Amino acid sequence: MRKKIIAANWKMYKDLAEANDFFTFFIDKLPKTKAEVKIGTSYTNLWHAFETTRNYPIEIVAQNLHQEEKGAYTGEVSASMLKSIGIETVIIGHSERREYFGESDHILKQKVTTALKNNLNIIFCIGEKLSDRKANNHFDLVKSQLKNALFDLNKKDWKHIVLAYEPVWAIGTGETASPEQAQEMHLFIRNTIAGKYGNELAENVRILYGGSVKPDNAGTLFSQPDIDGGLVGGASLEVDSFIEIIKAV
Ligand code: PEP
Repeated sequence: MRKKIIAANWKMYKDLAEANDFFTFFIDKLPKTKAEVKIGTSYTNLWHAFETTRNYPIEIVAQNLHQEEKGAYTGEVSASMLKSIGIETVIIGHSERREYFGESDHILKQKVTTALKNNLNIIFCIGEKLSDRKANNHFDLVKSQLKNALFDLNKKDWKHIVLAYEPVWAIGTGETASPEQAQEMHLFIRNTIAGKYGNELAENVRILYGGSVKPDNAGTLFSQPDIDGGLVGGASLEVDSFIEIIKAV
């Protein structure tokens, strides 16, 4: 049985004071849940958020890391720097990183390798643009994202990988993939992994859905057989809506 995950992606929102405010109320209201709860926040918040939540069932995760171990890369943060403040998980391959920061499948593969070498767990994002879906190319595109970045991994590496299927056309747009569209792609992803690594491994990989998850659509999305929770952007910024989404598991 795969344990569900509800992960927040705060993107470039919330300074330290705003993050503190959030945690004050969130910790107080956090319901008992079967899900793992994770919050992805900016580098500047990570250490403090980690310390604030360390006695609660909340994991603080990073939104990015650099692919090199160390070096003259001004402004970048390495895997070992994340580990040194207690971070265990990093989001890699978010569509905003692919789109605005030129992160190709090749770079993402390097980031995955570096993260795994440093014993970090990974939430790896994949998903097609609207143009791919309109051209009926969405399955091929998602398959190529998986293949190019992840299919050289060993079976044992997959213990550290969670996938997030995030159709780009549904991120921050208020447009959600229907539960049927999302389930169809999640099943395709699982079958593609099974084709490469076998059924047992594929059945254990958790695949989150992301793209305008809100309290009113979360329950139906999370009840699909191959949807193992959500990566939530906008609706994770407010305590009450994020709590409602957690309750939908
Ligand atoms: C995201 O940032 O990963 C995301 C899914 O955002 P939103 O929920 O706002 O669409």
